[in-house]
Amino acid sequence: MSEPLLQRVTVLGATGSIGMSTLDVIARHPDRFEAFALTANVQVERLFDLCMRFSPRFAVLTDPAAADQLSHRLGMEGSRTVVLSGAAALVEVAAHPEVDAVMAAIVGAAGLVPTLAAARSGKRVLLANKEALVLSGRLFMDAVAASGAKLLPIDSEHNAVFQALPHDYARDANSRGVRRILLTASGGPFREWAVETLEGVTPEQACAHPNWVMGRKISVDSATMMNKGLEVIEAHWLFGVAPEAIEVVVHPQSVIHSLVDYFDGSVLAQLGNPDMRTPIAHALAYPDRIDSGVRPLDLFEIARLDFQRPDFARFPCLALAYDALRVGGAAAAVLNAANEEAVGAFLDGRLGFRCIADVISASMDRAEGLSVDSIEAVIDTDARARAIARSAILERQTAR
Ligand code: NAD
Ligand code: MG
Repeated sequence: MSEPLLQRVTVLGATGSIGMSTLDVIARHPDRFEAFALTANVQVERLFDLCMRFSPRFAVLTDPAAADQLSHRLGMEGSRTVVLSGAAALVEVAAHPEVDAVMAAIVGAAGLVPTLAAARSGKRVLLANKEALVLSGRLFMDAVAASGAKLLPIDSEHNAVFQALPHDYARDANSRGVRRILLTASGGPFREWAVETLEGVTPEQACAHPNWVMGRKISVDSATMMNKGLEVIEAHWLFGVAPEAIEVVVHPQSVIHSLVDYFDGSVLAQLGNPDMRTPIAHALAYPDRIDSGVRPLDLFEIARLDFQRPDFARFPCLALAYDALRVGGAAAAVLNAANEEAVGAFLDGRLGFRCIADVISASMDRAEGLSVDSIEAVIDTDARARAIARSAILERQTAR
């Protein structure tokens, strides 16, 4: 093994679930990784604590008032961390010439521009922010190819697929004998609930995931299975595989993180305890293997692994995502924008759980003439689709 160089890492979304797990891994390997910049939306307290612990060169808060508070607090402690604010600062720390790796862990479309900036600057891009790829798939993959960026998936399923593919795999499934990609899904907290009871579920029930502790948006996505839908689209772009060759397998234990089925009948899987520090450590150190702090897998304790077909009637969001991928063009961007608006409304108590899928479906029907051919077009499409979704949400509120 070659002597590892010190990697300078920007963590976009440092205060979130993925951001904190990333910093946990970084802290275990001070000889290999250094936190160069840490960013958050508005959480002053948490970012302050992280700055005191990791002494990054830069800290960014999107909100200017929050940035002023952070700057003041750090100044009182004699910290040398430079505090920046606003969307342009996110791009600055993602594309900074001294940065080696960028953890893209902002939730939602808000992560698109800085994540794309990291890709365009040829960084090692550790991609957790699946929404950015769903919105801008072709544009993003073209940017990676043009700059020579190294794209490493953090989503546990895609990280598992990456590990099960040949190490020189270049987005051409057929030439490498890949028949199918099998994405596993826990099925979320409502896998066995009677469908009629789902309308009344609360945000707290939806966010109580059986196997993973995550941010609220992705927790709701897991409960509707839109998370798996977004992951189908993510797999299509990351691995160059047609929608028909991406299959979802419900696997309630979340021990097999995904599988690759080859033409010779071999099926390769990656297993592990459900803890995001495994894919994070894998991507940070790739191709080396480092300690992540994750407990070793005890197969005797698990004893059994179960598999079921996904229930598309119970989880209409999954079907909508396959539809968007087959339609192509801006459909996936519309799906994503409508989903973000609908999930936000559900979390605020403005929309019923089962209406999330209705809002997305109505938005996809109504959106016309939208494009995702340039970054400006993607941003415009995202904004227009959100406006359409907001009116679809209002209609359902007045109908209640
Ligand atoms: P989270 O809600 O816990 O954290 C989100 C982070 O993004 C926070 O640091 C927050 O400050 C920042 N942020 C939010 N809105 C912002 C905005 N408008 N501008 C700038 N920053 C903003 O979310 P999470 O669970 O860590 O998920 C992050 C991403 O990783 C999501 O795209 C999610 O789909 C993906 N992901 C998460 C997990 C998981 O286990 N949590 C697994 C796979 C993929
Ligand atoms: Mg996942």
